Amino acid sequence: MASIFSRIAAGEIPSYKVAENDKFFAFLDINPMAKGHTLVIPKQEVDYIYDLDDATLAELNVFAKKVAKAIEKAVPCKRVGVMVLGMEVPHAHIHLIPINKESDMLLSNRKLKLEQAEFEAIAQKIRDNI
Ligand code: AMP
Repeated sequence: MASIFSRIAAGEIPSYKVAENDKFFAFLDINPMAKGHTLVIPKQEVDYIYDLDDATLAELNVFAKKVAKAIEKAVPCKRVGVMVLGMEVPHAHIHLIPINKESDMLLSNRKLKLEQAEFEAIAQKIRDNI
């Protein structure tokens, strides 16, 4: 069965998409640690990021860089933090999180609850800066 992230990339499950090409897809995390918290995935369904072949891993990171640069412009922050966990969803993904201080990356932080309109506005702003 396809992973939830494959179904998102295929458009079968709705998401707040920020970027896409033939191999990669980026969308807002539904339980964000900060406004603009984005997930970047390969469309290829691989659970563990370091099981990706070297070329795909490299391309995924270059794609994530493009998205991170757009997030920086769309969301006021000092920089975009990068995190890889994969404990919840078995489909490789990179978390891109706008941060202003080290503690903004703490997993124990309370997640934001945003309205649909706010998610849409953030995704649009990031898309506008890609
Ligand atoms: P992890 O696998 O530990 O890196 O965590 C998975 C991340 O995916 C969490 O931050 C979730 O909030 C996020 N997530 C799970 N389902 C969805 C979804 N349908 N849309 C957007 N983000 C999701």
